[in-house]
Amino acid sequence: MSSSPPASLNPAQLEAVHHLSGPCLVIAGAGSGKTRVITTKIARLLEGGYLPRQIAAITFTNKAAQEMRERAKSLVGPKAAKDLAISTFHSLGVRLLREEGSRLGLKEQFSILDSDDVLSVLKDAGGTTDINTARQWQWTISLWKNQGLNAAQAAAAAKNDNERAAAAVMTRYQERLAAYQAVDFDDLIQLPLKLLTTDAEARAKWQDKLRYVLVDEYQDTNAVQYELLKSLVGDRGMFTAVGDDDQSIYGWRGATIENLKRLPSDYPLLKVIPLEQNYRSTGAILRAANNVIAGNPKIYEKKLWSEYGDGEPIALLECDGEEHEAERAVARINALRAEGKAPNYSDFAILYRANHQARIFEQALRRAQIPYKVSGGQSFFDRAEIKDLCAWLRLLVNQDDDPAFLRAVSTPKRGIGHQTLGSLGEFAAKWKCSMFEALFAESLSSALSTRAIGSLHEFGRYVNDLEYRARHAEGHEAARTLLMEWLLDIGYEQHLTDSEENEKVAAARWSNVIDFIDWIAKRCGGLPEDGGQESEKQTVLQVAQTISIILSIAERGDEQDQVTLTTLHASKGLEWPHVLLAGVNEGLLPFKVEDDDMTPERLQEERRLMYVGITRARQTLAVSTLRRRKKGRETIAGIPSRFIAEMKLHEGSGREDPREKLKRMRAELAAQAAARATPNG
Ligand code: ATP
Ligand code: MG
Repeated sequence: MSSSPPASLNPAQLEAVHHLSGPCLVIAGAGSGKTRVITTKIARLLEGGYLPRQIAAITFTNKAAQEMRERAKSLVGPKAAKDLAISTFHSLGVRLLREEGSRLGLKEQFSILDSDDVLSVLKDAGGTTDINTARQWQWTISLWKNQGLNAAQAAAAAKNDNERAAAAVMTRYQERLAAYQAVDFDDLIQLPLKLLTTDAEARAKWQDKLRYVLVDEYQDTNAVQYELLKSLVGDRGMFTAVGDDDQSIYGWRGATIENLKRLPSDYPLLKVIPLEQNYRSTGAILRAANNVIAGNPKIYEKKLWSEYGDGEPIALLECDGEEHEAERAVARINALRAEGKAPNYSDFAILYRANHQARIFEQALRRAQIPYKVSGGQSFFDRAEIKDLCAWLRLLVNQDDDPAFLRAVSTPKRGIGHQTLGSLGEFAAKWKCSMFEALFAESLSSALSTRAIGSLHEFGRYVNDLEYRARHAEGHEAARTLLMEWLLDIGYEQHLTDSEENEKVAAARWSNVIDFIDWIAKRCGGLPEDGGQESEKQTVLQVAQTISIILSIAERGDEQDQVTLTTLHASKGLEWPHVLLAGVNEGLLPFKVEDDDMTPERLQEERRLMYVGITRARQTLAVSTLRRRKKGRETIAGIPSRFIAEMKLHEGSGREDPREKLKRMRAELAAQAAARATPNG
């Protein structure tokens, strides 16, 4: 993302920056410069005599905290920026607990449990091995903690048998945490709050330490965070909060819009400042965003306008299926670059509702050799099972690839232990050859037992045989047969079942494997990937070669210049020149699971998510829908999301000039054709 020149601010922003006499709330739509108010206000506070360490700026994610520190650095210099207390609510909580935990009976070196740890403590506390029950408890207990309830209060609040069971488990869970000197994520807010509300000395100390507090993305704070803020700022109420009720998207995690409504009554001196000018997006994008959010009831009326012209019309991409969608995304990226509208890959973001939607885009981007990063989720190619299989494929292509050899030889385990591999490695180093080459060396018997050599030979012969078959298996059917035989030979499905205690997770990982195999087989068959054209048939080995090249390119890729793939939730607060909103279909966005009755409140939160997505775009926005979409292993008909109609794309000057449309379509087709013409592309 390009950074703008040092802040110039409009009068309303300046008013917010200069209001230092009491509490201040900036409530304004997306891209109106709320975050910029915070960073500039930090500089203003320093000028006003505050010390850096007395200023706490609270952001929603660690990444946002990092960005804010960078921004502060450019405004106030590295030395002051280093001492600023810029953090998330959770990391501020960690700091409070490290420094004051003893007052709550916590050792300085307490541990913080991650979600998996919590699940295993819960299973233990509740005497169950069922992961789903444990997850249900985790969810319920977390919501209670975020409402500030302890186990006894939760028991009193429990409404049904399930909740009563969860409350009982919560008591035992808390006892265990205390015994382990451990806290969970929710405790990182709840315990500091408890400390500040019950211990007057600690409260006075921290109110003196952190003399001014700034909060970004205020609309997504929950009840406990509200109280924590309240006890930090005390009666002086020296804080600035900025937020947008239309971007509240964490209701499902206990965030509450009540926090916005409560501020004026809790702080009668509160200065409320609206911002109306948007500095991020073109007119067409802003209009679509305003049209969509108009479908929600208003808490704070907002009028967002932009000085930037209408800009390019929003592109609606109707796609045959997920693969076609990914192909069109790649074509769009290439076309915009070819037109000179986007010098960098980092100018692009692809946003989606659910993490699993990333995979097909990843595959298409890799194939087109476009660097990307998946933020707020795991990359498909970083999944252990895909890395395992890729190690095998790399080994088929190049037997001297030692890292690939080491991974393949030990997944699944085949009785070749660390010691054997260690000795083999030493032997190979001594003879300056690869480990694979070493395993057939006659003099290896001087280094290893006959039994160990026997196992290594067996593995080596299998790899050679597989390589031979991969060299000859051409076309879809032959490739699929070979690949499935391979998985069976090495016992990969069994390996997943054995190494994964949770059956559902093992099944999901196996399903990734099958998807990967299908993808390779399709490429061997030169089959059109939804909507694409047929290409030459290839052998499994040829496709493995492409994959090896793609893997090494992606690993070497320039860290900075990458297309961003992210969920809508994780895109909050960020912006890109070119944005594609993917899978804008009923069921996906708004998201709907089976037997979900989609309350008006849920629908409104989904609509806010759509609003967040649209308003991430600066220059161009494309919205894609699927005519057919995958649901589990089924393919179902796709219905465009109601939010597309709500954007009213035909309205105003948002209509696409037919000549422009033709030009863009030509460019996209040319880019698609060019992508196919690259080797194996
Ligand atoms: P969001 O609601 O998405 O978090 P925001 O209100 O925090 O948005 P910012 O990210 O602060 O908005 O600003 C949006 C863009 O507008 C940024 O690129 C920022 O640099 C720019 N901007 C903000 N204020 C001004 C201004 N007064 N003049 C020029 N550019 C500005
Ligand atoms: Mg912001």
